[in-house]
Amino acid sequence: MIVHFFASLALALVFLFLSSALYISPAVAATYYSDQTDFDENNVPSANYRWNQENIRACIYKDSDVPNSYYVWTKLAVQKWRQALREYTDNQNQWSFSARYVSSQADLESCDVKIYIFESYKDFPGYPSQTGAYTSVRNDDEILDARVYLSPFILHGDGVTELDLPSHAFRNSATHEIGHVLGLGHMKSEKGYLMSPQFDFLEETREHQITTLELRALVRIYGQHGFEE
Ligand SMILES: [Zn+2]
Repeated sequence: MIVHFFASLALALVFLFLSSALYISPAVAATYYSDQTDFDENNVPSANYRWNQENIRACIYKDSDVPNSYYVWTKLAVQKWRQALREYTDNQNQWSFSARYVSSQADLESCDVKIYIFESYKDFPGYPSQTGAYTSVRNDDEILDARVYLSPFILHGDGVTELDLPSHAFRNSATHEIGHVLGLGHMKSEKGYLMSPQFDFLEETREHQITTLELRALVRIYGQHGFEE
């Protein structure tokens, strides 16, 4: 009788230990996004368009003189948004958003999102008014025509100094522009957020991560279940 009592006490202790071990284990950290850390602003404004289709297909054209790493970083920016949305909404089957390489500008035309990586900002169709990465989205009766223009070689805001972007700055602008493609606008703060209009790569030595701030804004636009209404 006594033996039996100790046996069940031991079992109960093991059970208690297991449940407390489970209780104290931290939540699994997100891989593709971080928690919002700056709370000066708590909302990313949305643009005046949204996608309404199950899959968004982006294509990337790059000038032959631009090193391949810029293509890879741009493709990774698209993948990062997709994976962050899937992880944040715990919905791995939706938010289909992919990017592939095309060898000519003409091949971009059949793609939902047309991404150009030019050798120089002087090749931008919006030059000379556009001298840094930018995105243009035309909303024609709910049919979106989205074009993203990137370059490793841009003009500084002073209007004079030409800059070779360090990789973290190029990657930051690729992620930022794809944020516009998905329907996010600019923060009021000039700098400091992923969707701020400026990125000072001397002051900011790391690219901004996608955070719960941007993801919350996208869920407000699309809901929890992907791009399709
Ligand atoms: Zn912008």
